[in-house]
Amino acid sequence: MPRLRLTAPMAAVASDDLVSRLEQSLALFPELGGAPVTVGVTASRRLNGLAIPADRLIRLNPYRRRHVTYFTIGHELTHLLQPPGLGVVPSGEVQCDIWTLARDPLFWDEKPCYLRIDCDGRSWRRHAESVALLCRQAIAERERNRRYIVWLRERLEHYFSVPPPTAVATTTGQLRLW
Ligand SMILES: [Zn+2]
Repeated sequence: MPRLRLTAPMAAVASDDLVSRLEQSLALFPELGGAPVTVGVTASRRLNGLAIPADRLIRLNPYRRRHVTYFTIGHELTHLLQPPGLGVVPSGEVQCDIWTLARDPLFWDEKPCYLRIDCDGRSWRRHAESVALLCRQAIAERERNRRYIVWLRERLEHYFSVPPPTAVATTTGQLRLW
């Protein structure tokens, strides 16, 4: 698991809760190896976070909201897997959202920013598992289909056009998507 290193400004403001969130999130990124990942602060009013993959550095905004979400942390860590970082995840913000949701349910605590999801923030949790499953399928689809994001958008559109009873978990615990 990558070691967590906080910049001095982050160490001065990070709550125990944020450090715990960072450690839990980093544990889900074994690809990053054992070398440190540095976490700093951005005070930009527009941003929840940003990543500088070449430096294994992410910056988070601890001021903007009550909690830095796991989704934000996961999204920024996923950027470290994209070029010019490790290069094991394709470039792009939508791609970053897809690979973050596909990684682990921990990162489902917030609706993604760049992958368009046709629900509001409050109902997101009801759909997160189904959307993440489609993201995993899209990643598999990419092996043979370069238009896997188009494929995913079509599946998401279909999913959100289906009335809720057929789009949620069944009593047997299996997902019925369509
Ligand atoms: Zn991003």
